[in-house]
Amino acid sequence: MARHTKGQRAYMERLKDPRWQKKRLEALERAGWKCEWCGTGKVNLQVHHGAYERDLPPWEYPEESLFVLCDHCHERAENVRAGVYRALGFISPWHHKHALTLLRELQAALAEFGEEAVTGGVSAEGA
Ligand SMILES: [Zn+2]
Repeated sequence: MARHTKGQRAYMERLKDPRWQKKRLEALERAGWKCEWCGTGKVNLQVHHGAYERDLPPWEYPEESLFVLCDHCHERAENVRAGVYRALGFISPWHHKHALTLLRELQAALAEFGEEAVTGGVSAEGA
């Protein structure tokens, strides 16, 4: 009747590693000790892994894939990611490469234009 699987327990042990603690602190510093989604700094902050990669230690993830979130936004993030994954399940595997292309284009647009990339501030033709 374990509440966590063996894999989850092993992962939680790895989060105690000083290398993860250092990476975590760097992420919190970078975010100014505020939730990167809602901006609050007055609650428990967590460092969210945007994606999990099997066999990659938590401290070896690219910092661009780590996000500082409050408890509430962390749960929102997990739910939204699950929705993205579910939506992908309705696209045939031989079309997944197109989903990947779209996601990478979105990532590049967000990196270049920030929120304006998704709020209509940037035209498809560019400036
Ligand atoms: Zn938040």
